[in-house]
Amino acid sequence: MSRIRARFWDPTGRHYGLPTWPWRMAPPHLLTRRQLTAAGLRPGGQGVQGQVLWASRRYRARGGVRAAYLYDVRFALPKRTATVRQRAALAKANAARRTCPHCQRDAGYVLPRHLGLCLDCADRREMERAA
Ligand SMILES: [Zn+2]
Repeated sequence: MSRIRARFWDPTGRHYGLPTWPWRMAPPHLLTRRQLTAAGLRPGGQGVQGQVLWASRRYRARGGVRAAYLYDVRFALPKRTATVRQRAALAKANAARRTCPHCQRDAGYVLPRHLGLCLDCADRREMERAA
């Protein structure tokens, strides 16, 4: 192991206060939030279980060390999906955004905010004004 790697090798957390591994050396059950998300998971209320530290020249302001926090995949939970009622409420809200207040029809698209009407009604209004 190189000297730089040894610097971040602290699986017990005695030195860093958190179990710490060098880049690519963390045990496989510890994942970053991004890795959890990619696997369809979320931390699920658990705190940070460890960290990966690596030297980065671009982060000289913070001592040149970057950290990625790790969560235990065994405590992770599936990502929340909307309930049937939540989905129904969303569908209703979206339908309202597509419904023209003038002709009461579902235009099939979200009404342009600046018109507040479906395009047919907006055209008709425009022609009436011009007449
Ligand atoms: Zn309309």
